[in-house]
Amino acid sequence: MKPVMLITGASAGIGAAASRIAATKGYDLALNYRSDDAGAKAVAEACTDLGARCVLCKGDVSDPDAIAAIYQTVDTEFGRLDALINNAGVVDQTAKVTEYTHARLRRMFDINVIGAILVAKEAVIKMQAAGNGGVIVNVSSAAARLGSANQYVDYAASKAAIDIFTKGLSDEVAQDNIRVMAVRPGLIETEIHAKGGEPGRADRLAHMVPMKRKGSAEEVAQAIIWLCTDDARYVTGSTLDVTGGR
Ligand code: NAP
Repeated sequence: MKPVMLITGASAGIGAAASRIAATKGYDLALNYRSDDAGAKAVAEACTDLGARCVLCKGDVSDPDAIAAIYQTVDTEFGRLDALINNAGVVDQTAKVTEYTHARLRRMFDINVIGAILVAKEAVIKMQAAGNGGVIVNVSSAAARLGSANQYVDYAASKAAIDIFTKGLSDEVAQDNIRVMAVRPGLIETEIHAKGGEPGRADRLAHMVPMKRKGSAEEVAQAIIWLCTDDARYVTGSTLDVTGGR
């Protein structure tokens, strides 16, 4: 039986790229997304062509009931879970801290922090019950180190929370052979920048990257999937920058 991977935010960007690479590495896939039905369907078709069995699990990770439904689907369709790519995440419009509203912060932290923690919690429960170990890769951001002043400090803070959650959870579950890591992407060309109101952001800031270029979703996804493989079997608690040196 093939290993099963759940990827949140799989309808676009880094999650979509991770889905395609995981399919080539022999995983069957539970693909979560929130709203982009066409994107999710296209990813599932591409992964099916690459040999994976794919199940779409539409649902908003900031909604605990939706998380329960996602895992119900994983249970019903696959009956096992070997890896979680905890990738779904959002930015917001560029703003200074003095402009933030409570509603903005609630959305950011409900999705990027509370949602991610609850998704990881359910994965751990399943992996511990099965007793076969497992892998969780949380998708953080270089923003967790850089702070993103004048852009989205709230986003940076949400990703810093993910970094330390990664360390704490990894220590809690290492004895169960459940490995927990984070990947911190840098400036990566995806639609997330347009969703934050700045479609050209990766190009605009590329000169600040030591490698003098933006990265691709595939370059991040390769690192994520490597962490899931047995080649990384002694890696846990680590946070890997995929940033071109930034
Ligand atoms: P993206 O292209 O905007 O894709 C985001 C994905 O997350 C989409 O599939 C979206 O689904 C899904 N999503 C958003 N909110 C969700 C929710 N509440 N519930 C379930 N799914 C949700 O973004 P990306 O650039 O690939 O980002 C992926 C991850 O990398 C995020 O955690 C982001 O913070 C992180 N990251 C990105 C960069 C970068 O430069 N691109 C840098 C550092 C970190 P729908 O579209 O279907 O709603």
